[in-house]
Amino acid sequence: MTAVLDATPTSLADWTRHAAEIRPRSGIYIDGDFRAARSGATVDSVNPATGEVLAAVASAQDADVDAAVVSARRAFDDGDWSRSAIGDRKRVLLRLAELITENSIELALLDSLDMGKLVTEAYAVDVPSAAGLFAYYGEALDKINGEIAPTEPGNLALVTREPLGVVGAVTPWNFPLDLAVWKLAPALAAGNSVVLKPSERAPLSSLRLAELATEAGLPPGVLNVVPGLGETAGAALGRHPDVDVLAFTGSTATGKRFLRYAADSNLKQVWLECGGKSPNLVFADADLDSAVEKTLFGAFYNQGAVCSANSRLLVQKSVADEFVAAVVARAQEMRPGDPLDPAAAQGAIVDEAHTRHILGFVDRARRDGQIQAGGQRVSINSAGCFVEPTVVTGLGPSAELITDEVFGPVLAVQTFDDEDDAVGLANSGIYGLAASVWTADLRRAHTVAARLRAGTVSVNTVDALSAQTPFGGFKQSGFGRDLSLHALDKYTGLKTTWIAF
Ligand code: NAD
Repeated sequence: MTAVLDATPTSLADWTRHAAEIRPRSGIYIDGDFRAARSGATVDSVNPATGEVLAAVASAQDADVDAAVVSARRAFDDGDWSRSAIGDRKRVLLRLAELITENSIELALLDSLDMGKLVTEAYAVDVPSAAGLFAYYGEALDKINGEIAPTEPGNLALVTREPLGVVGAVTPWNFPLDLAVWKLAPALAAGNSVVLKPSERAPLSSLRLAELATEAGLPPGVLNVVPGLGETAGAALGRHPDVDVLAFTGSTATGKRFLRYAADSNLKQVWLECGGKSPNLVFADADLDSAVEKTLFGAFYNQGAVCSANSRLLVQKSVADEFVAAVVARAQEMRPGDPLDPAAAQGAIVDEAHTRHILGFVDRARRDGQIQAGGQRVSINSAGCFVEPTVVTGLGPSAELITDEVFGPVLAVQTFDDEDDAVGLANSGIYGLAASVWTADLRRAHTVAARLRAGTVSVNTVDALSAQTPFGGFKQSGFGRDLSLHALDKYTGLKTTWIAF
């Protein structure tokens, strides 16, 4: 790949030319090197926009996961990383941030080809965010102090943060690079070793990232990557008796499994970032033009495969007809296209099974609701997995499109009378990841935000997010927080060292 610091590609032809140069890594990454699964098993990585097989990726089984954990433990105990000088660790993380930036084109393409997202979004948003996060935690390292607790005279009680040991990280397919980095950057900065199990639907960027980490100076074994199926590689990591912490992002159903794995093995700490069905509340006094644009972004960005997607639109009745008509008109313009085409408004759905899963929701919704926009599979170049942005109205509060996460480009619309009604609808259901509120009234913004059971409330925007702010859920959206300095809480243990003089 000759992409290093090439000029930004600007056309479908540019991106297609770069894509032809991609040579995906396909092994299990242990001790700073790739190897095949001991069983020889592989899982094909398929481009959902074309159906083309990109790579036969090694499928890790119990023995491979065990080898990765043994390597991570040895690296942790050796101390080359876990007990290294803060300045050395910082240099490696900052160098890794640089290498990610230097390989932006390749990393963006790996995610786009692997799971169908628009390459321009991967390049402009995901890759810079990944680099920025390694820089953020690298920079944080020499600015965090320990504590001295108050004691009686003649004593000194030091409170320090210690790395926990071997962290297992299990990640989903929707932002393959970024969500791996959300775990890796704070876990590595804290001095842990990590075994990463990326989604079998999009493992390629994680494998390349591990190689870049070694190039940046991370000692072998500190980051191992075990691609493979959830029920084999994921379960093996969840059940492994020598993993100290399991940090998971994925569906609520799978998150519950990890709690069981921990209870049945070594009581490892488990941190869960799970699903959502986030409401977007639009009051009549809001800037409705901005609200329309952000409603579309909140519902359809990344083909709706965003854990905090604003997949429920709640509009005040007095403006509902006008507002929904504007959303429908704009949704009809957002045509899916080749994910490598900078002119496409939507990319591909990750695979055939998920495409059918999304269309199943839409078909069942035809019975009770009205499909106002979209609702169809689209054929791009007569191949691939593409679904139109879809808007559904007329659903009752217990309809599955209101209660269940679709993880696709499907927006369900409800209407409300007043604040109490809006909050009641918004807080219904099992999830509590994110919510948005649109209003010009400062009192209403504060009071409604305070009443919403959501880890992030965005006011007059959607899906507000930064490296500096914690991200995670209430209720069955999980617990623990990614991003910000609070993420370090998951990867460190507090130690008290008490000295009596
Ligand atoms: P998923 O739960 O199917 O898979 C997530 C990971 O768990 C994958 O690596 C998978 O291989 C593994 N896994 C699956 N079954 C397993 C099992 N039986 N044992 C062990 N591991 C197993 O989720 P997905 O389809 O990859 O991702 C979509 C889900 O992720 C959505 O629910 C979405 O909301 C959620 N998500 C949450 C956040 C967040 O920060 N809260 C962010 C992104 C995605």
